Amino acid sequence: MTSGKPTVFVETWGCQMNELDGRRFVGLMKGGGYEEATSPETADLVLLNTCSVRDKAEQKVYDRLGQLAVMKKKRDGMILGVCGCVAQQEGEALLSRLPYVDFVLGTGRIEALPSVVRRVVEEDDRPVEVGFDLDEVAYTPSAIARTIPHKASITVIEGCNKYCTFCVVPTTRGRERSRRLADVVEESRRLIQEGVVEIELLGQTVNAFQDPETGEDFADLIRAVGTLEGLKRLRFVTSHPKNFGDGLIEAMGPKPSVCPFLHLPVQSGSDRILNRMKRQYTRSEYLDLVRRIRAGVPGVVIGTDIIVGFPGETDGDFEETLSLVSEVEFASAFCFVYSPRPHTAATRWENDVPRPVASERLTRLLDLQQEIQKRAHRSLEGERLEVLVDGDDKKGKKSSGRSPCNRVVNLDVPRRFRPGTFVMAEITRGLPNSLLGVPVAG
Ligand code: SF4
Repeated sequence: MTSGKPTVFVETWGCQMNELDGRRFVGLMKGGGYEEATSPETADLVLLNTCSVRDKAEQKVYDRLGQLAVMKKKRDGMILGVCGCVAQQEGEALLSRLPYVDFVLGTGRIEALPSVVRRVVEEDDRPVEVGFDLDEVAYTPSAIARTIPHKASITVIEGCNKYCTFCVVPTTRGRERSRRLADVVEESRRLIQEGVVEIELLGQTVNAFQDPETGEDFADLIRAVGTLEGLKRLRFVTSHPKNFGDGLIEAMGPKPSVCPFLHLPVQSGSDRILNRMKRQYTRSEYLDLVRRIRAGVPGVVIGTDIIVGFPGETDGDFEETLSLVSEVEFASAFCFVYSPRPHTAATRWENDVPRPVASERLTRLLDLQQEIQKRAHRSLEGERLEVLVDGDDKKGKKSSGRSPCNRVVNLDVPRRFRPGTFVMAEITRGLPNSLLGVPVAG
């Protein structure tokens, strides 16, 4: 039986910020009387919340839009909107290219969704809303339709000013705009009262956060949120090495709620390539930072992102990446072959690393990283880790959760634990990408 209310379905691709934006779309439309549909087939309003970080992801968006267009032809009155990074990047061009799309909404105009939908329904308009308000992050925390009761993400800074030569984020997300520290603390407090025990602070360069009024920085924010009564775990992502000062290391140190895990993209181990990427640090500066973080935050583990086959990358440059990975022993690494993105400096350079060479480098890098992870996970056998249960594992057979250092732990017992439960587990087996454990008395 239906309630007769119009329905919305949001399909989100890409990063955690996109995921959170997807929940903002649902929350905003619920505020306007919509209900959430469980599939696009039954929704009156379908939003494709897109990702353009790599060429492959963008191509998939166009393929998916083609499928949704077929669905729309069969269903009178279905509204199809494109949101997220591809919407921001392409704007008007998307509407001209795809006649079946009803509106385009960029990442800086999320809060305009209800008025954009109204223009489509009532005025038969095809709106394009892109661009950014430079001083403010328009953000209504109460309009996020959250789905997981024990965990929540909070965007604290949008955009990026770094303009790495391979990255489309400054185009798709605009320049840095931070929220007010007091607003983030207030939102955190409210979420904790509602039962959230783990908060993750989000930003493309989260540690570039700076309160627009008081000037308080990310270390101040970690101190303020990390000491809130009732919060068990605080995480944040993604950190830029350039913004990682000693103040932040100090702020992470003494608080039990701050999880000992950092995602700190290095991208390459070669100074020549780091310079071409405009990453604003050298190999030795990165290694020195890792040393200082490890000294200041006991037990911390570090994950990273790496690009192989960047224009100009020689065999020697790639060997330097392998040697850096061996030296740091990352806990996890997202590794990709370079993909040219529109509006970035590197697209103007000759893409001179042949695809087979880049693919072979990627395979070597992934093999090395797997070896490192296997070793690290095996060394945890016999250790005890606190697991916050998220739900079932991928096969639906065991309860699964994460340790404070962000490792996936599957609980090797028939009993199921409610999501949000803390379980002390003894690790019985270290696999390359996860751990097996059995519950023990805490
Ligand atoms: S710092 Fe990160 S988000 Fe900003 S331009 Fe560089 S890669 Fe992109």
